[in-house]
Amino acid sequence: MSAFDVKGYIPNTMLDWEGMLAATIFLPGCNFRCPYCQNPDLVLRWHELKSVPFELIQKHLSSHDGWIEGVCITGGEPCIHKDLPELCARIKDIKLGVKLDTNGSSPGMLERLIRDSLIDYVAMDVKAPLDPESYQKAIGIEDDDIVERILQSIELLKGSPIEHEFRTTVVPKIHGTAEVESIAASLAGEEKYYIQNFSSTKTLDDGFSNLKPFTEEDMDMMLERARTHIPGAKKRGTSSGMEHL
Ligand code: SF4
Repeated sequence: MSAFDVKGYIPNTMLDWEGMLAATIFLPGCNFRCPYCQNPDLVLRWHELKSVPFELIQKHLSSHDGWIEGVCITGGEPCIHKDLPELCARIKDIKLGVKLDTNGSSPGMLERLIRDSLIDYVAMDVKAPLDPESYQKAIGIEDDDIVERILQSIELLKGSPIEHEFRTTVVPKIHGTAEVESIAASLAGEEKYYIQNFSSTKTLDDGFSNLKPFTEEDMDMMLERARTHIPGAKKRGTSSGMEHL
């Protein structure tokens, strides 16, 4: 049986779960249209991508028991998939940890995954200051209650024992020091907050594909402002790109 529509699989990587040797599963589709998205095929044209049979993934993961420590589930946005809890449960059956990458827009799904002990680590994007105008600009869609749902997800993670981090991909035209400081202020008291620089190689909106990423100096200035609220805030490079098995 495999109803899970996996569109990409990285058999092992150290880039996606800090301190862990993990495999990464890419699920298709997303409810956001961030103009700077670096996985536009997975968001817009996922039905044209070849699927990776879950049986193959299961076989690979089982045969590396004790070596691979966990599986990152990313996308796209994994939480739009109703069968995500079952996918996590299948990975747990192999006695591997599960890390979830999410845009935080589905607090109901997040709550269920936490309640049923189906995830061990969550990396949640906080894409913009938590006001509707800024958030909708960053996610490229109109969504009247998105800020409310993002806040719910933040509160869920803050109040849960699940290890987690918040992160922002910083993008010229969308972010600057004021935006990063505002995001960090809304996460004050948290331990882990990362800012990662935008990369312009391939973007959902062509208008962003020639945009120059921030310089290291710009990144340092944003980090300094973030640290006024979260002393442990850090810069980080990008995660793995999507590959097929
Ligand atoms: S950046 Fe993430 S949340 Fe935004 S459209 Fe791409 S996959 Fe979705």
